[in-house]
Amino acid sequence: MAPHELKSLVRTIPDFPIEGIQFRDITTLIGHGEGFAATVDWLAEKVTASGAEAIAGMEARGFIFGAAVAARLSLPFLPVRKSGKLPCDTISVDYALEYGSDTLEMDPASVHEGQRVAMVDDLLATGGTACATAKLLRQAGARVEHAFFVIDLPDLGGAKKLEDCGVAVAALMEFE
Ligand code: 5GP
Repeated sequence: MAPHELKSLVRTIPDFPIEGIQFRDITTLIGHGEGFAATVDWLAEKVTASGAEAIAGMEARGFIFGAAVAARLSLPFLPVRKSGKLPCDTISVDYALEYGSDTLEMDPASVHEGQRVAMVDDLLATGGTACATAKLLRQAGARVEHAFFVIDLPDLGGAKKLEDCGVAVAALMEFE
């Protein structure tokens, strides 16, 4: 499927979660078998070209795409979770949200020193989530140089923020 056809499968919900936000909803994209498969194909090609040895996905929608790509490529999948969800010893990173802050956690034993890990998530907005994830993965010893997204919102400057964090970005589609 062509990128413009995949873009047409993303549903836009106005005023979610708060007034004035146009939420780009991937439920309709993953609900289309061929569309989901073509999206995973695109991400898998990018991950392969990056030379990544493992994929990290951010809770929750990063799990959907990241795990599918990892299974397609027979690579390890590293879940980066919201705080308090993992039963093992964890390392964590705090990051700022528009209002307040949030915490991400992972199992440090899931990464080998120097392992090349690519990040996969559904959407890049300000880059705060992905930048915090890169810090967390590096704390565990990973080499993090690439992040792949289904959707980029370029007006929010996430790619620049990630570049400043030493991470190159590619996205399948953009929305204004
Ligand atoms: P950032 O940290 O780059 O500002 O925000 C990206 C994170 O917020 C991603 O994990 C993404 O899942 C979520 N997110 C923010 N806005 C949207 C949106 O419009 N649609 C979707 N699907 N996710 C969003």
